[in-house]
Amino acid sequence: MKRLSIKFKVTFWFTLMMVITVAAALAFLIVIGEQTVSEATCLRLNEAVEDSFSEIKYRFGELDIDNDLDYYNDGVYIAVYSVEGELLYGRLPADFDRSTEFVTGEIRKLEGAKQTQYVYDAVHDAGKGYIVIVRGVMPASGSENAFEEIIRLAMIMFPALVIIAALIGYFIAKRAFKPVERIVDSAATINGGNDLSKRIGMSDGKDEIHRLAAEFDKMFDRLEASFENEKRFTSDASHELRTPIAVIISQCEAILENEELDDETRNAICSVLSNAEGMAELISSLLTLARADRGHLKLIPEELDLAEAVFAVGELTSELAKEKNIKVEVSCGDSVIINGDRAMITRMLLNICENAVKYGKENGNINIDLKEENANAVVLISDDGNGIAKESLERIWERFYREDEARGNGTGLGLPLAKYIANAHGGDITVKSEKGVGSLFEIIIPKKL
Ligand code: ADP
Repeated sequence: MKRLSIKFKVTFWFTLMMVITVAAALAFLIVIGEQTVSEATCLRLNEAVEDSFSEIKYRFGELDIDNDLDYYNDGVYIAVYSVEGELLYGRLPADFDRSTEFVTGEIRKLEGAKQTQYVYDAVHDAGKGYIVIVRGVMPASGSENAFEEIIRLAMIMFPALVIIAALIGYFIAKRAFKPVERIVDSAATINGGNDLSKRIGMSDGKDEIHRLAAEFDKMFDRLEASFENEKRFTSDASHELRTPIAVIISQCEAILENEELDDETRNAICSVLSNAEGMAELISSLLTLARADRGHLKLIPEELDLAEAVFAVGELTSELAKEKNIKVEVSCGDSVIINGDRAMITRMLLNICENAVKYGKENGNINIDLKEENANAVVLISDDGNGIAKESLERIWERFYREDEARGNGTGLGLPLAKYIANAHGGDITVKSEKGVGSLFEIIIPKKL
């Protein structure tokens, strides 16, 4: 039940209540109706039989029946029998079973083949000890038959009524929940598309659902504004930090040119320079991502030979890898043309290759392969270094996530930026890795058609 939509739940309860109400009303009607009808019938039969007593007298040695006695009156047939059961006077309905035995003082209901009949046998002392039995027979009245017919009809109509009630209930619930569905759809679009500028935008209604939609829209306004502020702040802060860092780097480089520096000072300045360079890289990545978030990062696409870019990055990687004596093998074959932003594509490749060196093992291997697969260019960058733990595989694409915070001088922005660049070119980056074995990054970029 919990998994059903509210629409179904409302319909279900509505129909159930409807069934219970109608069934209870019907049961009440049957019980009370039947009782009332049969009580009225019994009363009429009883009265007719007992009224007839005054007309049946024993006089002058024989039974004298007054002319006023109607053998058929108001639906009741009257017949007079001797105690031996011989019919002396009177009439009975044609379909009445004449062999029906006598049971005095009690009204019986006999279900005949054609119709139901009520029978009342009464002992009557006609005078001077002459005993007769007066039998009253009353076929079930028209109203009783009609009542039974109505009940039968109701029993047939009942399931039809339930189905109609369920359909109407569902229709009403569906209409009532239409605005809610719109809210759900809009919220899902906003959530799924990460587009905070979208709104539910329902007309100005006063009911709860319209108010809810309006409140949601206000909430989205505030969310959008605060996200916008945050992005602007990151972008402005990175921008402002670029100049002082550039000054620190250039000043450090100038100081290091002085050959009279003692070793201690030189080491200190080198350390400042190295940190400043790391910070410059972080600020640059941050600024690029902040601009991308604000939609201010414009790609400058050109007809680009990816093989050339891969080769150039391979060369750079070989240089970097010398420090750890890592062997870099590049295989990029013929030219593969894509529509890409040269600087961005180079940056993406470099980020992945730098990581392969950074997290590669001493005397290890790095392979950089470029191939074509249908309409895509695929770059595979593999190393036999640290590898990535299973639980970190999803998280390495998050900003500032670093598997081992204590190690290396990373920023945690290299992979998010690389992924952003691949996505912005209509492609993607995925990774396969095993801790202690190595990693394989696969970059897919659509070829220029
Ligand atoms: P960082 O500046 O820390 O390298 P990245 O965004 O480039 O930031 O990478 C995020 C994290 O992913 C790294 O801190 C590292 O733990 C993991 N990682 C990335 N590339 C590799 C790799 N080739 N081998 C092992 N771990 C890697």
